[in-house]
Amino acid sequence: MNFDELGLIEPLRLAVTAAGYTVPTPIQVASIPVLLLGGDLCGTAQTGTGKTAAFALPILQRLATTPGTGGIRALILAPTRELAVQINEAFAVYGRNLPDVRHAVVFGGMGMRAQRRAIEAGVDVLVATPGRLLDLCGQGVVRLDKVECFVLDEADRMLDMGFINDVRTLIKRLPARRQTVLFSATLPKDIEQLVKQILRNPTRVSVAPASSVADRIQQTIRLVEKGAKGTVLLQILADPAITRAVVFTRTRHGADRIAARLRTSRISAEAIHADRTQPERARAMADFTQGFTRVLVATDIAARGIDIDGITHVINFDVPNVPETYVHRIGRTARAGAAGHAITLCSTEELPYLKDIERLTKQKIVPTA
Ligand code: AMP
Repeated sequence: MNFDELGLIEPLRLAVTAAGYTVPTPIQVASIPVLLLGGDLCGTAQTGTGKTAAFALPILQRLATTPGTGGIRALILAPTRELAVQINEAFAVYGRNLPDVRHAVVFGGMGMRAQRRAIEAGVDVLVATPGRLLDLCGQGVVRLDKVECFVLDEADRMLDMGFINDVRTLIKRLPARRQTVLFSATLPKDIEQLVKQILRNPTRVSVAPASSVADRIQQTIRLVEKGAKGTVLLQILADPAITRAVVFTRTRHGADRIAARLRTSRISAEAIHADRTQPERARAMADFTQGFTRVLVATDIAARGIDIDGITHVINFDVPNVPETYVHRIGRTARAGAAGHAITLCSTEELPYLKDIERLTKQKIVPTA
């Protein structure tokens, strides 16, 4: 299967070629024809599968080939600013030959003025985080009554982060007649319920179900006493094969502490979490992406949607008590066909969490000393 066979118009085919894509990913093969026909879709897929292009290409095609009536025609909701920014950038990449389709991104934690101006200038595609979009709707800056396509990305994260009520409020502002797409890495009960409520007769597509952890990731669990984790982390990072690593920690405070300790040991490290300002987070991400920083220490929420190729190792400083979080975390490595390693530091108190992870991933995880 190639992009020509998916029914995409030439400006989009040229854009994906320019982006260096030769064959569509499985989620793209399954989703693009359905979406081009206007159907609803429920996709089970994580970041890294090519899901952004799976919804962005059909949206761009619809907007370029059918006239609108003025106003926002496509709305994409994402749980984090990082992901929202990435999706907006994807629209720029795939829409490079369709300059008439205008897109913008809005998210919290930054002044509203510039975002308001962008919207007032007119946009066809709006990418947004829920809280900021609600604010802008409340101020009368954004109207959603002309939306033809609605995408809810990473729906399970929306739920985890407590955004689901904001999302429901926003959905009430959308026209009933619309195309709806929902992507989620996992499909817990609450999401299934949402699927029933907001999608109409959806086609279901699923790639690498979230419960089957990518085979390419080599997973190791190290049994470590709680107080020794810092020292063990330094020993692990002494391995020069670890060129680009994300260390996950439960708390913001922990992230700062670990990053500081690594820097003391001359390992370049930066922390990203919700207490850091948006410019600080952006800079930390840029330094990491460009290889100036070897280790990114992140909390789960801050790391959501990190889409960086070449992460060789994911290190869990603690064992997540929600098994889905483990799957999300280790999915940051082994991207774009590469191999990856996930190392989890597990104390005796955390051993019970491993059982839940084994149950979800259907893989036996054997701790080593
Ligand atoms: P996503 O799952 O949307 O976050 O995409 C993950 C990565 O895969 C991004 O860096 C995309 O640029 C890339 N990508 C998406 N579709 C393709 C494709 N068909 N071929 C190669 N790379 C792709």
